[in-house]
Amino acid sequence: MLNKNLSKAKFLKLTIFLIYMDNVIELQNVAKHYEMGDNIVRALDGVNIKVQKGDFVAIMGPSGSGKSTGMNLVGSLDLPTQGEIYLDGRNIAHLEESQLSQIRGKKIGFIFQSFNLIPNLTAKENVMLPMLFQGLDFQNREEKAQELLKLVDLEDRGDHYPNQLSGGQQQRVAIARSLSNDPEVILADEPTGNLDTKTGEKVMKFLDELNKSGKTIIMVTHDPEVAQKHARTIYWLRDGKIEKVTKRLNTIWRTIK
Ligand code: ADP
Ligand code: MG
Repeated sequence: MLNKNLSKAKFLKLTIFLIYMDNVIELQNVAKHYEMGDNIVRALDGVNIKVQKGDFVAIMGPSGSGKSTGMNLVGSLDLPTQGEIYLDGRNIAHLEESQLSQIRGKKIGFIFQSFNLIPNLTAKENVMLPMLFQGLDFQNREEKAQELLKLVDLEDRGDHYPNQLSGGQQQRVAIARSLSNDPEVILADEPTGNLDTKTGEKVMKFLDELNKSGKTIIMVTHDPEVAQKHARTIYWLRDGKIEKVTKRLNTIWRTIK
């Protein structure tokens, strides 16, 4: 009997440990305040978020609700005014910029609403750029970029400059680029915000595929349809606070907080 209880306790401990380890990102009571003259803008105001490895999370909310602010904190592009942020169990809330940029380079791939490609580099060169910091030689960088462009169905567009590509194609180049450092987490801030619905769906298809291949995806959107079609967990933000958290099992959404 005692043995049985002991093993039960052990099992429970292990499970708790595994669940803890499973969180690739955790925000604890995070706030970001901006001082604007006499005013304080509470862009984020005491937010708790846990992202499990392999999840597809959407951060939903109207314009100005703090989505991009939250994304920038998760992506170690910015530091919080208050609270702790754990990336793979490491607290990044108090690091120096040089340490933050290293973490970004290794663990996170970014996709932005406005694609953010470098205009005077070709598609392939844009994808190759982040690999410069990995110490790969030119040929390896080029081969890897070509593979990544193939992944997003753009193997025949490598020599095009961004202005020679459609919006949807530019965003797919940006997806390929976000993968060039083989990140654990992909952060996408309104990835379909500048695209028509049909082109946006095509871009989302690639994010779905990346998620199926095991990447954790965190996507900001103001569009509930996009969020509910692609994500499995949704954080609903309003005025810098989390209004609710919903999770999907197959096609059924339930509110968990
Ligand atoms: P969202 O992405 O949901 O549209 P943001 O995170 O960009 O919202 O902004 C949240 C709030 O914080 C807004 O009211 C915005 O005006 C304010 N804000 C964002 N960035 C700054 C900044 N650098 N300085 C001052 N206020 C800011
Ligand atoms: Mg935004």
